[in-house]
Amino acid sequence: MVRFQKYLSLLFVCVAVLTSGKLWAWGPTGHDAIAYIAECNLTPKAQKVLRGILDGHSLVYYSSWMDNLRSIPAYDTTSTWHYANVDEGYTYATMPKNARGDVVRAVQQIVEVLHDKSLNDSIRNTYTKFLIHLVGDLHCPMHAGRLSDRGGNDHPVRFFGRPTNLHAVWDSDLIEAARKWNYTEWQQQLDICSKKEQQQMAAGRPEEWFDETVSAAKSIYESTPVNSNLSYDYVFFNTPVVERQILRAGYRLARLLNEIYG
Ligand SMILES: [Zn+2]
Repeated sequence: MVRFQKYLSLLFVCVAVLTSGKLWAWGPTGHDAIAYIAECNLTPKAQKVLRGILDGHSLVYYSSWMDNLRSIPAYDTTSTWHYANVDEGYTYATMPKNARGDVVRAVQQIVEVLHDKSLNDSIRNTYTKFLIHLVGDLHCPMHAGRLSDRGGNDHPVRFFGRPTNLHAVWDSDLIEAARKWNYTEWQQQLDICSKKEQQQMAAGRPEEWFDETVSAAKSIYESTPVNSNLSYDYVFFNTPVVERQILRAGYRLARLLNEIYG
């Protein structure tokens, strides 16, 4: 019996490790930073309406909510909405699509649904929380990683000597190594663009934003061969990429929410 329990707990750990890459895009720090940048750039009206929809909570409160519910059977259909794995040479328009859905399609559909003024409160609450999270995932490079290596999950590397994979490095290792900021400090340090710069960055459509993420992923694959030992120089050269993607996601989330609720 004890042996069986040991086996079960070991199995649980293994499953958690194998699936963790797709569970925690950007980690809570990145998702909180994106939500807070968006929150700081909402119109006063959108901010007020959103407080009502989110039961008095801020966007930050729900930034990782969608990752946390993935093990709940009722939300099984959303499991593929966090990413869109794509092999090289494709754009979103040309890539083979996952019939169960992907992050681009999910963001497009959620935005469309939220624009419907007659939507009931419960769906509006859930879909708003989905959008807060998924715009972040859409900007996470390994969520646009190759299909052939499951978005970098089957691309082994070492991070400061510790065996891991490319997906996990870009989901959370890099952001945690890059800065020791909390989400308000991420916002203070990055959200310094003029209104014009902000509008330029927030322009475009989700499929275009995804294609940008695909090209970020392409550069990452080129600079990170299998079994690389990633260290201080990798953190140095890639911190600007992390910062750029977080800022883009924050401004774009603000734009979408302002268009729906502003
Ligand atoms: Zn996610």
